[in-house]
Amino acid sequence: MASCFGKIVVGTYVEIKRSDGRIHQAMVTSLNEDNESVTVEWIENGDTKGKEIDLESIFALNPDVAPDEELAPSPETPPPPTPTCVKVNKIAKNRRTIAPIKNDTPSRDNRVIPTRARQPQPPPPEPAPPPPPPPPSLQPTQLTQAQTQQQLQNESSHHPLSRKELGQLSRRKSNCVKEVEKLQEKRERRRIQQQELREKRAQEVDTTIPNYEIMYMIRDFRASLDYRPLTTADLIEEHRICVCVRKRPLNKKELAMKDLDVITIPSKDVVMVHEPKQKVDLTRYLENQTFRFDYAFDDSTTNEMVYRFTARPLVETIFERGMATCFAYGQTGSGKTHTMGGDFSGKNQDCAKGVYALAARDVFLMLKKPNYKKLDLQVYATFFEIYSGKVFDLLNRKTKLRVLEDGKQQVQVVGLQEKDVKCTEEVLKLIEVGNSCRTSGQTSANAHSSRSHAVFQIILRRKGKMHGKFSLIDLAGNERGADTSSADRQTRLEGAEINKSLLALKECIRALGRNKPHTPFRASKLTQVLRDSFIGENSRTCMIATISPGMTSCENTLNTLRYANRVKELSVDANQGMDGGRPNIHAVNQLELLDGDWLSISPQRDDLKLLCEQNEEEVSPQLFTFHEAVSQLVEMEEQVLEDHRAVFQESIRWLEDEKVLLEMTEEVDYDVESYATQLEQILDQKIEILTELRDKVKSFRSTLHEEEQASKQINPKRTRAL
Ligand code: ADP
Ligand code: MG
Repeated sequence: MASCFGKIVVGTYVEIKRSDGRIHQAMVTSLNEDNESVTVEWIENGDTKGKEIDLESIFALNPDVAPDEELAPSPETPPPPTPTCVKVNKIAKNRRTIAPIKNDTPSRDNRVIPTRARQPQPPPPEPAPPPPPPPPSLQPTQLTQAQTQQQLQNESSHHPLSRKELGQLSRRKSNCVKEVEKLQEKRERRRIQQQELREKRAQEVDTTIPNYEIMYMIRDFRASLDYRPLTTADLIEEHRICVCVRKRPLNKKELAMKDLDVITIPSKDVVMVHEPKQKVDLTRYLENQTFRFDYAFDDSTTNEMVYRFTARPLVETIFERGMATCFAYGQTGSGKTHTMGGDFSGKNQDCAKGVYALAARDVFLMLKKPNYKKLDLQVYATFFEIYSGKVFDLLNRKTKLRVLEDGKQQVQVVGLQEKDVKCTEEVLKLIEVGNSCRTSGQTSANAHSSRSHAVFQIILRRKGKMHGKFSLIDLAGNERGADTSSADRQTRLEGAEINKSLLALKECIRALGRNKPHTPFRASKLTQVLRDSFIGENSRTCMIATISPGMTSCENTLNTLRYANRVKELSVDANQGMDGGRPNIHAVNQLELLDGDWLSISPQRDDLKLLCEQNEEEVSPQLFTFHEAVSQLVEMEEQVLEDHRAVFQESIRWLEDEKVLLEMTEEVDYDVESYATQLEQILDQKIEILTELRDKVKSFRSTLHEEEQASKQINPKRTRAL
């Protein structure tokens, strides 16, 4: 009897259509001859499911597995072995990425292996002509071709054909001719059907979309997924370090340029990036990369919902005498400020819907709880900005502030205004003041915020003493880290500081997860200022990595996801060594180029070295040398400015002294001896102080030059955005 199963064998993947219209892949686990159907199985939400589907429906969806060589076997040909109903329980092993990864699989690296996408067919070119009919001597049945060949080989080698068999063969031939004709007819019908289908589809294709092929591939891929987004019913887990991702919707500009959405969030903790790639023969395909985080928020998620799973669980921490931090990390324009500061409706930002304000609201609510009420806590807020390694107070007309560290390694931002706040409305006002101060004089809000970190803090004090602190940080755009080889010094210095601070931040969070003793806090102002929030048993942190959905942002998005992934990766693995031997980095020799004194005494430099060692992959020796030069430059700049200010003050005194001296000479009988002595003293002092300042400036200038040289040595490949 002819096989009705075509090319289907147990283990074949076919597309199936569900009662709700979804189409996805499933594996055939048995062939049921009695009722011409197959049993298929697939994985859904972690469970194996299955059903029986008639062959007609299967072939309608999967023409490529339909029979195309249905030859009636001769009566003598033994029927092929009927595939028994083998339960295949290896679906998971063999399946392609059709269902989100199960949540409970622990992994050291939460990035799931990139899957080369199954290659869904965009409207294909002209169909290939039907293949020639098989040679009549072959008798393919539902056995695979290889099996059939093997069978024929065995037959011919062991039993030379008898006359009877030859007769059968010629009968078969005539049968075959008929069958082949039938087949050709069938094939032709199918070809016409498919052609019609393609034409219909082609009419639907909007070829004005620049990447419509890719769009169809993504659409097909998505159709095979089973979506289970995060809901309010989902459990809010307790994490010491929580790392999550938020995708924003395509914006007007992206829609206008018909950018494609290449990000899919199929479940509450999975993010998929469909990266378009090209083969050598120029055919395009998708490379799908899957990442897992604590939570993944899709583009329909509100700020309130993001807050609920990220910052809200940290509010209690500060009431329990702890320190909490929450960072928004990502490329400029990906939604950091929208998340932290609030929705923009037109030009105005609705601060009340940002994480800053939502956290403040809950702090005041919590304050009323009997347990905490009795503590008599006062709430304060600060708002400042870190730009190019310098701190500016956003609640005090952007005054530049100094960061000092005392003998006990306590870091202080000298003069930072801590405003006493009594209710959420007062906090909202402060946020507004700070925001307008932050962006005043800027051509666009993003032009400046892409280069600076904004830190908003809610501080609880009890009788003046710190009880807990919640720092919420809208970080600088991570793409700026790549500016280190720019031709313009200011851009280079900004880029270097951002690069360094984001690397240092990653290390500090990782260290928090591992209770590591030494962490490179001092490598950047950001981590230095937040130092107290990263240490101690009761510190918790959360990072919201914001991503843009567009294909044009794909590279930056992947960088963001890789970074976020590294932040959490180590904290997942409890077995990671505490502080293993560190490899020496090659740049050490080059340090000799730099000023000896600074090298031997600067704790900043030690931390920078540690930081670069911890990030060897991203920090090339040249980049390290450059960072050294920049750090030295920034320190020297501070010193030169400080000394210059002191000299300026001193000069005023000199002027006064000299004035008195000159007035003295107006007298008829003034003491010439005394005059000469005093003048000489003043001049000596002046010369000494001015020479010192001049030498500092000279050395500062040569450091400026060194920085410029070092920046030219950077291998651009190694300075990708963080
Ligand atoms: P960033 O601070 O990362 O540079 P923004 O927060 O300023 O980016 O966002 C850029 C633009 O995208 C803004 O116009 C903002 O309103 C919009 N946007 C960001 N995230 C969302 C979102 N989740 N939903 C709607 N619009 C968003
Ligand atoms: Mg912003």
